[in-house]
Amino acid sequence: MPIPYLMYVTPSGELREEPQLQALAFGGRSIESADLIPLPDGVTLSMMPDRLAAGRRRNGERKVIARERGWALAALLPIGYTRTLLPDYEKVPGTEPLPFFGYSAVAGLNGKLYVAAASTDDPRKWHPRAFNKNKLARLVQKKQGEYAHNRIVAQHAHCALDYSCPTASNLFFGRWEMAIAVSPGCNSRCIGCISKQEEEDLISPQDRLTFIPTVDEIVEVAVPHLEQAEDAIVSFGQGCEGEPLMQWKRIEQAIKAIRARTTRGVININTNGSNPRWLQRLYDAGLDTIRVSTISGHPETYTAYYRPIGYRFEDVKEGLKRARDEGLYSSINLLCFPGMIDREREVEALLGFVRETGLRLIQLRNLNIDPEVLLPRMPSLESLGKALGMRELIDILRREVPEVEIGNFTRPIQRQVKVTPTS
Ligand code: SF4
Repeated sequence: MPIPYLMYVTPSGELREEPQLQALAFGGRSIESADLIPLPDGVTLSMMPDRLAAGRRRNGERKVIARERGWALAALLPIGYTRTLLPDYEKVPGTEPLPFFGYSAVAGLNGKLYVAAASTDDPRKWHPRAFNKNKLARLVQKKQGEYAHNRIVAQHAHCALDYSCPTASNLFFGRWEMAIAVSPGCNSRCIGCISKQEEEDLISPQDRLTFIPTVDEIVEVAVPHLEQAEDAIVSFGQGCEGEPLMQWKRIEQAIKAIRARTTRGVININTNGSNPRWLQRLYDAGLDTIRVSTISGHPETYTAYYRPIGYRFEDVKEGLKRARDEGLYSSINLLCFPGMIDREREVEALLGFVRETGLRLIQLRNLNIDPEVLLPRMPSLESLGKALGMRELIDILRREVPEVEIGNFTRPIQRQVKVTPTS
């Protein structure tokens, strides 16, 4: 079996191979051919700033590539692929944290470039190819002309054009899953928050929403989308906002107003699931699906990452159990960090969490964060047991909870229309 070798990138951006050195994953594990897939369509190759490339000699010694020769190389995967290993590298002392990206390990094999990843969903609706920039710019201009007063349209125009956000762009393409951001505030303090960071040297890649839309603004963009779009979903809870549940009353009113006008399509919420009572109100109002963000099924790991304000891990579980009891289609947005979430204690806790909450779908999400920002703030890896590998984690889930689907996206499910008993 050929040995995957180190690839790195020169300061001028050219790829270089180092066939004498075996490619390594973060933490020093050797990368094997079985870990790798060819680079998927839509992948982005990225130089890791101030991170020196590192590989292993045949004698087992770790070798770092000199700075003047080049930097560590990583792949940023398109949605639909789950990263299985992070790249190994040597950080130049005293340098900045890495930008918030999902760095995936790459290696050379027979003159080609490969990545440590697994295909975990159909990327058709999320591939950059589906979002033609020129067409999008025209559609944004047209919609902004029609809805000049609607701040949601203005917000998501910014997200679509400046961040290439697929769900914001779908507001303008009029199809699939569309974003509706509603909340500037949040009751979590996630280490990897992409819209607000507390620490000076950590820069969140997106600006946090600054306004709370009215019910009318929400209904005005939601109803036409639900009525006309293919596989229509409107989703509260986006990367550019805080926690939508902070605006549960407004969402409750909006759901009722929307359903008074149309029964078509799916109303979804992406949430930290922090308050089961508020969620119950949304379930009663007609919410169809819920996706709860978590990094773990274990309270210690969960609490270390989310740093919750005024709620506990038990509340998150309670909210999901109520969703099950109400017949909602529930899923988790599982933040995937290879080498941590695939450790024995985490795998066992995740299985328990999935069984206890009656989930229907696990959405695997590559966690975009610098490993040296995340790991010092989490329980020690040694305390979590042996790393089983992301592929093994996915296999265990498929074997142990076969009724639960594994993918990367929210599903346009067939709505369960609740019949309110007449007295
Ligand atoms: S729940 Fe969302 S908005 Fe709130 S801190 Fe976490 S990532 Fe940020």
